[in-house]
Amino acid sequence: MIIIMKHGASQDNVEAVVKAITAKGLQAHLSQGDQVTIIGAVGDKTRLMHDNLELIPGVDKILSVTETYKLANKKFHPQDSTIRVGDTPIGPGHLAVMAGPCAIEDEEMIMETAQAVKAAGASFLRGGAYKPRTSPYAFQGLEEEGLRYIRRAGDATGLKVVCEVTSLRALETAVRYVDMLQVGARNMQNFELLKEIGRSRIPVLLKRGLSATIDEWLNAAEYIIAEGSPDVVLCERGIRTFEKATRNTLDLSAVPVIRQKSHLPVIVDPSHATGVRDYIGPMAKASIAAGADGLMVEVHPCPSCALSDGPQSLTFEQFDALCGELRPYAALAGRAF
Ligand code: PEP
Ligand code: MN
Repeated sequence: MIIIMKHGASQDNVEAVVKAITAKGLQAHLSQGDQVTIIGAVGDKTRLMHDNLELIPGVDKILSVTETYKLANKKFHPQDSTIRVGDTPIGPGHLAVMAGPCAIEDEEMIMETAQAVKAAGASFLRGGAYKPRTSPYAFQGLEEEGLRYIRRAGDATGLKVVCEVTSLRALETAVRYVDMLQVGARNMQNFELLKEIGRSRIPVLLKRGLSATIDEWLNAAEYIIAEGSPDVVLCERGIRTFEKATRNTLDLSAVPVIRQKSHLPVIVDPSHATGVRDYIGPMAKASIAAGADGLMVEVHPCPSCALSDGPQSLTFEQFDALCGELRPYAALAGRAF
C-alpha cells in the first residue's frame, strides 16, 4: 500500500506514518518529491488494517498497490530513477550506450574494442566471460581470465564494465572485476541468483527473459531490489514469437509500458533482438524514439571471425557510423550522449 502525504506535510507527520508502519513489522520506503511525499509500505498489509493511518495528521490518502512488485513500481516512486554506475548515469536526460563483443576472446581484442567504442561515444564496455550457449560444445567464455582482460580494458579507457553472471560461482568471481552485473535472458527467473546479486549491491542490468511477460520481468527486478540493491536497469532484448526473419521479436512497446509501470531505467539491445546486423540501426533509432534510456550493441573487431554472434556484430566503422546517426535522435529525445 502507499500513503500519500498532503502537500506541505511536516517531517514529524512523515515520521509518525513510518513509525506506524514499522511498528507492525512492515518496511517503509520513502519517496520525497518536490510536491508530495509518498510512503510505500511493504509486507503483510493486513497487519495495518485497523491502524487508521488516514487519521495521522498530514496523510492525504491511502492507495493499495495491486501489483506484486512494489519497490520497482512507479506508484511507490513516481519520479523516474537515475541509476549511477560510478559516475556514469543511466536515466532521464542521458543515453547510455553499452557496446562490445558478445564474448571476450582474448586481451587484445577486448582492449582494441574498448578503444574503438569509447572513441565512437559509448560509456559502457560489454563482453561475456561466462557465456550461456545453446550448445554445450560452443565457446563457453574465458571466465576469470576474461574478467581480468575486460577490467584492464575498462581501466585503460574509463569505460564502465558490464558482464553477465550465469551462476553463483560466476558471481563470486565477477564482483571483484565488474562495475555492473548483467543477468541474461536465460537467468531472468533464476531467483536464487537474483537474490544473491541483490545482496552484492552492485548495479544490475536485468535482461528480459525469452518468454517473460513484463509483469514477470518487473517481479524479477523486485527480487533484486528487495535484497538491498536498488540500482536495477531493465533491458529489452526481444522475445520468442513465431517470426523467423529475426532472431527474436523486439517488443519495442515494452519501453513505454515499463516507463508507465516502473521508475527503473530501461534500455534496448537491438543486437540480440534482431540477430541481424542490418536491422540494428533502424531498431536503435526506434528505441530512442520509444523512450529508451540506452542501448546495448554488439561490436567485434572482425565479426566474421567471432566465436559467438558474429552475424549480429558491428565492425568498429559500422558502430562509429551508427553513433553518428544516433546523435540527432538522442538530441531530439533530450538525451546527452
Ligand atoms: C548477451 O548479452 O551476451 C546475451 C547472452 O544476451 P541475452 O541474455 O539477451 O540472450
Ligand atoms: Mn551475444
